[in-house]
Amino acid sequence: MATPPSIFSNEEEIRCQDVRWSLDVFNIGIKDYFEDIFRLFHTNLKQNVVQIHGYCSQKCSRKLPVEKWCSLCNEWRVKILAKHRFRNTIKDILYWKNVDSSKWQSDVREVQKIFLPNWYKGKLDANDLSSRLNIMTNCTLFDNQQQLTDIRDIRNKVFHNKTSLTVKEKKDYVGTISSYLDNDFLKRYQSVVKATEHVKLLEKC
Ligand SMILES: [Zn+2]
Repeated sequence: MATPPSIFSNEEEIRCQDVRWSLDVFNIGIKDYFEDIFRLFHTNLKQNVVQIHGYCSQKCSRKLPVEKWCSLCNEWRVKILAKHRFRNTIKDILYWKNVDSSKWQSDVREVQKIFLPNWYKGKLDANDLSSRLNIMTNCTLFDNQQQLTDIRDIRNKVFHNKTSLTVKEKKDYVGTISSYLDNDFLKRYQSVVKATEHVKLLEKC
């Protein structure tokens, strides 16, 4: 008798695809929340927190060692780093050349770059799931960081290591994503409400 077609391996692949879709939906769902948190943080830094005014004309972070930065860049650096989850260890190993400190006042993306891993190089893609998860995981402006870390790990597994999942793995992974979204504060965002519905559907299928 011929062996049956590899329907099981196919289902395992479909489960993996369901988790990838859940992550895409998660990313679309939290975009407005993510942007709002940083918009508020950035406005507060500009209007209330950073006491030195003026402009940096020398792009300190790109050209100089930290000890030689101008007082304006230095104050922005300290105030942004205050929200880094690993501020005590990260400050010495951050890849400062990847950030343009002279744009911290005008460009929130340059502020966000501080929360990327130190190996991150180049331009920040504002819609990239991996970058967004890394920023959220490292920035204390966001709650539930253990859950975010778990979601980041799930993302790395299904996009880099795994091509198939067991029923339990899929249930756990989609359940983690769904439980992060299913939060009273986040539900104020219509995009989160919609994303939660979609993820719950993927959880069931
Ligand atoms: Zn400067």
